[in-house]
Amino acid sequence: MTRNRLYHIHRGVLFPGAVARVPAGWLGILDEYLRAATTLMEGSDFRVQRVVESHGGLDLKWAARPTSVARFDALERLVILLEGRSLTTCRVCGKRGHGYAVDGDILALCNDHATGTRIREREQGFARATLNGFVRYDVDTDALVDVEHRAGDV
Ligand SMILES: [Zn+2]
Repeated sequence: MTRNRLYHIHRGVLFPGAVARVPAGWLGILDEYLRAATTLMEGSDFRVQRVVESHGGLDLKWAARPTSVARFDALERLVILLEGRSLTTCRVCGKRGHGYAVDGDILALCNDHATGTRIREREQGFARATLNGFVRYDVDTDALVDVEHRAGDV
């Protein structure tokens, strides 16, 4: 997958330049997200304005016409899934990755591309709020699991 190919596939959804700075290793998981989100949001004028790397994960800004609560929640869960996948996917090659502290930044890297200091505290992932409680990305099942909210975790 390349940025040009991704843009071509999702041309009607992506703003020009929206994926210009997405690391190559994350284009595959971004493509999966866009396919799922486009299907879910059909008829809502769903658009992705910008996707950037932030704190070792993908941060995505989207817009759509007002939609049902259920559909909004489903879309938010897709965003949480994408974030969880990016935090555990090497930004360079797309293999299984971990968070590393590198020059004051955080990068998701695999063993082959590792540099800096591995951040063990990130291994459990982050709790994220949904309309039906908190969830966390489970890398082994590649799915969101319900969790109890712990103060200061979000
Ligand atoms: Zn790698």
